[in-house]
Amino acid sequence: MEAKRIAVFPGSFDPFTKGHANLIDRALPLFDRLVVGIGINGGKRGLFPPEVRKAFIQEVYRDEPRVAVDIFASLTVDYCRKLNARFILRGLRSAIDWEYEKSIAVTNRCLDSGIETVFLAADPALECVSSSMVRDILKYRQDVSDFVPEAVAQKLREYQLNY
Ligand code: ADP
Repeated sequence: MEAKRIAVFPGSFDPFTKGHANLIDRALPLFDRLVVGIGINGGKRGLFPPEVRKAFIQEVYRDEPRVAVDIFASLTVDYCRKLNARFILRGLRSAIDWEYEKSIAVTNRCLDSGIETVFLAADPALECVSSSMVRDILKYRQDVSDFVPEAVAQKLREYQLNY
């Protein structure tokens, strides 16, 4: 039997946006299973705690069994090996993204040549959407529902009421 095609979509997802969701929707036909991996490293605290980011994403994919959400604190290739994932999914919004992503992809291939990075070009309508832009808008308590999936917008409203 052929091995399942498992992809890891690593990132900060602080918070998850419509850009991330668009990438996942378009990647799903390519893989049997997609694991959204919230990468944490000691230096970067982020706006939302990893568990909260995870809950936001789980809400978006609550009816999609092919998508799992997890938190990891290791090298991405080590995390992929742990899951038997042979693919890393990343998105490209601009030439700047490409320069940055290329060096990471090359490094990852040096670390494990059995794991391929698959890039999807951002949907032009969403290429200006980023988590950092959403965080900036949230700082001023403005509405971000144009930039995040409805389930995330709802969770953000609940979160803001409590904090
Ligand atoms: P990181 O801190 O690892 O860049 P992000 O959560 O910012 O994590 O992004 C994770 C991945 O999603 C990256 O590959 C990024 O290029 C991609 N991405 C982010 N926003 C968009 C978007 N609007 N369209 C397509 N891809 C995107």
